[in-house]
Amino acid sequence: MSTIDATVQTPLGGPTLPQERRVVTAIPGPRSQELLNRKAAAVPTGVGHTVPIAAVAAGGGVVVDADGNSFIDLGAGIAVTTVGNAHPKVVAAVQAQVAQFTHTCFMIAPYEGYVAVAEKLNELTPGDHEKRTALFNSGAEAVENAIKIARKFTGRQAVVAFDHGYHGRTNLTMALTAKAMPYKSGFGPFAPEVYRAPASYPFRDGLTGPAAAAKTISMIEKQIGAENTAAVIIEPIQGEGGFIVPAEGYLETVVAWCRENGIVFIADEVQTGFARTGAWFASEIFGIVPDLVTTAKGIAGGLPLAGVTGRADIMNASHGGGLGGTYGGNPIACAAALATIEAYEEEDMAARAREIGEIITSRFAALAASDARIGDIRGHGAMIGIEFVDENGAPNAALTGAIAKQAMSEGVIVLTCGTYGNVIRFLPPLSIDNALLNDGLDVVAAALAAN
Ligand SMILES: *Cc1c(COP(=O)(O)O)cnc(C)c1O
Repeated sequence: MSTIDATVQTPLGGPTLPQERRVVTAIPGPRSQELLNRKAAAVPTGVGHTVPIAAVAAGGGVVVDADGNSFIDLGAGIAVTTVGNAHPKVVAAVQAQVAQFTHTCFMIAPYEGYVAVAEKLNELTPGDHEKRTALFNSGAEAVENAIKIARKFTGRQAVVAFDHGYHGRTNLTMALTAKAMPYKSGFGPFAPEVYRAPASYPFRDGLTGPAAAAKTISMIEKQIGAENTAAVIIEPIQGEGGFIVPAEGYLETVVAWCRENGIVFIADEVQTGFARTGAWFASEIFGIVPDLVTTAKGIAGGLPLAGVTGRADIMNASHGGGLGGTYGGNPIACAAALATIEAYEEEDMAARAREIGEIITSRFAALAASDARIGDIRGHGAMIGIEFVDENGAPNAALTGAIAKQAMSEGVIVLTCGTYGNVIRFLPPLSIDNALLNDGLDVVAAALAAN
């Protein structure tokens, strides 16, 4: 299918793919359509896709399909290939490890890669207290384990999640997730002792951080009781729910209240972690130190790995053998994570994320001056959301979908999100160059003007 030589790599990662937008067929082209037909016959409809293509290569800032179309990647596989697709350091580390050993099961025969990733996460996550890290395979699995750990430590059962929250698709994480369609509808019953509190959504609730926190805290005190609450879990910047940045003072107030009440505060940094927001972790932006942090997505350049990192006393409260999993902290994924983290450090990718954020934000701020449908521009670093509204300020999901669809047909991958489906989320790989980024934004701006 592919004629791409994946053995030659650019310094930015990936095979030497021309860093260009190139649409040479209708989308999908014939070869992509062939694969999509096979997909429809082999894979259930529940597993959807955003872009109707057969991907064959990716690197720098592009994804190339089987028909030779080259798409500008503004989604990074949902904030996963933050370091760049097939980054040369990651490729080399994976190749070396896969030839050494592929699996022993860390619970059977431990190995250094796992311990080294744990040491790195203990060092990089917010706070200089003593920490421990346990590794898993997916964001949802990390979240499930963070809840297990918090319940064991506190001896309490209730867990508080938030409006607009997203934490995964397993049973417990569906219960934690706010949105019915497409994540929960018809998939219940859900795990018990999960409660939903109001969050801070400055564009829609107009509340200051302390005022929004007072609502959150009052709900927990009245409906659950602090003494029954094991954990509060929140994304410091809500991802799937709409790239919602809480008002200043919100998270600080909730964290302080949790601390006073012996409640474990869990920051779900699965989407916001690893240089994405221009900091190692978004918690740093708000000056909070979570008790536990869950990580995944950007951790290992695309290989499946996830972590729970946090206070040693909380992490160590689980009995021996109580935590783990067959594949958790797989040696190849750990090798990829160590190479990825090294690349973030050496290439100062957090600074690059801030530059990318500047470019996107200033571009949309200029457009917003003459287009009232741009209701809000928000985010940090290379995690920027644009919320679209109609003339009454109501969510404009139709426009959002139309923009994404047109951009896709013109060779740009853009993702949408939001409780109301009216947010375009920009999550480019940090290896994208400015020319490509600007070309991608031109296409999105033209799609906005045309719809
Ligand atoms: C994606 C995501 C998850 C779930 O991660 P999976 O690897 O898909 O299980 C959990 N929390 C947040 C904040 C996420 O963005």
